[in-house]
Amino acid sequence: MLRPEELSKPVMRMLACTVAALATVAPATAQDVAKPSIVGTEETLEDGQVVTRLTPGAAPRALQDNRRSDNAAPDDPPSPPESRQDAPSVLAIVSHPDDEIVFAPVLARIAREGGEVTLVFATSGDQGPGTSGLEAGDALASLREDEGRCAAFALGLEEPIYWRFGDGTLAANARNTQDAMRDMGERIAGLIALHDPSVIMTWGPDGGYGHADHRITSSAVTQVVQAMGPDRPDLLYAAFVAGEQEGGDDDAPPGFEGWARTHPSLITDRIAYEPFDLDAAMAAVNCYESQFDATARETLAGTLHQRVWRGQVSFRLAFAKPR
Ligand SMILES: [Zn+2]
Repeated sequence: MLRPEELSKPVMRMLACTVAALATVAPATAQDVAKPSIVGTEETLEDGQVVTRLTPGAAPRALQDNRRSDNAAPDDPPSPPESRQDAPSVLAIVSHPDDEIVFAPVLARIAREGGEVTLVFATSGDQGPGTSGLEAGDALASLREDEGRCAAFALGLEEPIYWRFGDGTLAANARNTQDAMRDMGERIAGLIALHDPSVIMTWGPDGGYGHADHRITSSAVTQVVQAMGPDRPDLLYAAFVAGEQEGGDDDAPPGFEGWARTHPSLITDRIAYEPFDLDAAMAAVNCYESQFDATARETLAGTLHQRVWRGQVSFRLAFAKPR
């Protein structure tokens, strides 16, 4: 998601802004139960910096039709449905370990409800040392693969798939018929044939913030799905919705200022999640020690929850259903 070269400043901005932005966040009370809310607790670090720790609070409003039985303890996640026939099979194809964070709570929810979620990383992030101090290369790729596994497990998924294309090379090699990444389409088609997904999730054409690997991953998935017949899976692009951040269009969360927006009229799917799924997303973020410093790992998912997702992750369906 956030690449290291973009990360340091945005994250520092995020840290600097977090306290101010969340100063009004109060611990959840009984009256807050029906509101989207998280609990913010101020903490002073060793260096004197004050940060706000976020933990999920009451269920977002969109989740008030929750499936928890009256007998369940408040902290127990709802049980998977007895019939899993309706649980979707999802193929999530992204470019780098940590990209999946953009829709992590939804992956957690689908897995929790018994759906099959297959997470694919096209590259292993071998060029992105982030905050690790490691040099680009195989050791970094190995570390980032481990972090991707950690995140997948935190979300309740199986072992992710790594295609190990060169990080940062997907766009550069897209025309080279001799390059391994030309296999990407075949690999995508192969996974679709194998898993018969009802839904595929990937980056939108914007690549979130324009990253060329993200754009090519989105494009390659789109190319395969657009060639399929009417029984094609729903292809959902991750969408950062314009005008839905606090304060309107020009007030993206710190660290996300350069991200592309999708107009609300184009949002086709708003997939709700529950606090348990947000907890899983927070745990997944915490796996990426090479990419985010400790405070960012603590706050990133909470910031996305409060400022972007708001209890529902938004997507744009790539192709309209046949009429
Ligand atoms: Zn990425």
